[in-house]
Amino acid sequence: MILPRPIQNLADSLAQLPGLGPRQALRLTFWLLHQPPEKQTDLTTHLNDLFSKIKLCTDCFFPFEAKNEETLCEICRNPQRDHTIICVVEKETDLLSLEKTNKYQGVYHILGGLLSEIDENAKQKITLQPLLIRIKNSIKTKKPVREVILALSPTSEGNLTTYYLEKNLKNLKLNFKITKLGRGLPHGGEVEFADSETLINALEGRK
Ligand SMILES: [Zn+2]
Repeated sequence: MILPRPIQNLADSLAQLPGLGPRQALRLTFWLLHQPPEKQTDLTTHLNDLFSKIKLCTDCFFPFEAKNEETLCEICRNPQRDHTIICVVEKETDLLSLEKTNKYQGVYHILGGLLSEIDENAKQKITLQPLLIRIKNSIKTKKPVREVILALSPTSEGNLTTYYLEKNLKNLKLNFKITKLGRGLPHGGEVEFADSETLINALEGRK
């Protein structure tokens, strides 16, 4: 049967969310439809706010609430952080796990994805070029980058990406160290789900 357009439209949008198939998306659409009005209003407001008030940091790509004309996130704006060390992570939630350790004082770079054997376009989707430019630009300042930590999950896609990043970073032929998280993260495990102690060990044992 043909569903009313608003129902079908939302279900189609939700079906594109990671981990949701068309059937689950449709079920979720009907569930939303039956929520009390105040919950529906909240959800609409929160979605609107998310899409209209959040910007990506021009340095590290972490999302932040842009008040005034700010272009940098809280971490990149913080003079207490060590801007000469950049920790490259796949995604926002990895950054949050590392921040939770309270041990890392450098700044970050969010790659926005990983390379994969099957997705040829993945190379275009990651923020490698902005990272290279960011490092090159830093060389002209008083605080040149002295270390880039590759903190991707030790999965097959993570390893593939680490190798690719390393090659590109070395090609810059600039004077900075490239390190990787040390032992402790289980093979195939993910940064996001590692506990703080494991992450601290992996950070301290980086080489
Ligand atoms: Zn930032």
